[in-house]
Amino acid sequence: MAARIIDGKAIAADVRSKVAAEVKRLTTRHGLTPGLAVVLAGNNPASESYVGSKAKATKEAGMNSFDYRLPDSVSQAELLALVKKLNTDPVVHGILVQLPLPKQVDAQIVLDAIDPVKDVDGFHPVNAGWLASGLPALAPCTPLGCIILAKTVYPSLAGLEAVVIGRSNIVGKPMAQLLLAENATVTITHSKTRDLPTVCRRADLLVAAVGRPEMVRGDWIKPGATVIDVGINRVPGTDGKSRLVGDVAFAEAVSIAGAITPVPGGVGPMTIACLMVNTVRAACAIAGLPAPSV
Ligand code: NDP
Repeated sequence: MAARIIDGKAIAADVRSKVAAEVKRLTTRHGLTPGLAVVLAGNNPASESYVGSKAKATKEAGMNSFDYRLPDSVSQAELLALVKKLNTDPVVHGILVQLPLPKQVDAQIVLDAIDPVKDVDGFHPVNAGWLASGLPALAPCTPLGCIILAKTVYPSLAGLEAVVIGRSNIVGKPMAQLLLAENATVTITHSKTRDLPTVCRRADLLVAAVGRPEMVRGDWIKPGATVIDVGINRVPGTDGKSRLVGDVAFAEAVSIAGAITPVPGGVGPMTIACLMVNTVRAACAIAGLPAPSV
């Protein structure tokens, strides 16, 4: 039997409408309109497109969107000065500095300068530390989205065998921390893991965040398991154009897994939806209001 396809687009739309309802409540009851500042340095076309989508989603949710476009020649000092200004701006509740930054800028120094309570990307070491300590934190958006997707299959993740492939700071590690917080039994794997297929076959929930097209084969998957494919890889298509594939060989996996995310249309749409969630959460925390229901 073919796996259930987890419709990330529809689930993301649902999350975004819940965010919009929460924003409406905050605005009418508390006079609080969450605001997200997005900083883009340079003119990388992919970054411009991401930033455009983020601004659109922010406005659609009823929040304030502040756009800062800086030239490719921007200095580290100028970027740090902008971050400092946004840290103290009372109408800004979330700050996102779009990566990659121009080569003369040390991205880590800039990200570390963001006030952790406004760090809606969840990349600040303080947020990583809060997350690892089981304290309230702004968690990175992509793994946050994966948890929401997994919970459409298993309302509780407690006790599940979860295997995460990848240990990056933006996906793999926070993914593992979030799964642990949900009481899953978590294995983190990486490029030095021995016999990865055997480790993967243990998983009730397999999350692939590698960046290698279709690396995870069908026979790596336990029958009936849920597969969340974070990978976004551009490969040559048969028609001469490129196409997107995930880290999982979807055509093989779909007949073995119980549920699986497609690429595109799975994890991708959840990332921006969760950025909206984090912005509302940050606004409530800064205003001293209880955490929102979304
Ligand atoms: P990184 O390159 O930072 O990390 C990749 C991880 O995969 C590393 O931990 C690496 O291990 C591991 N890895 C590499 N090769 C192998 C292998 N052969 N076997 C096992 N593990 C391996 O990537 P990211 O975490 O940033 O992104 C991963 C994927 O997710 C990419 O395709 C990216 O485009 C996508 N992505 C998608 C998002 C979305 O919104 N859907 C958002 C962010 C990322 P080691 O540490 O040992 O090198």
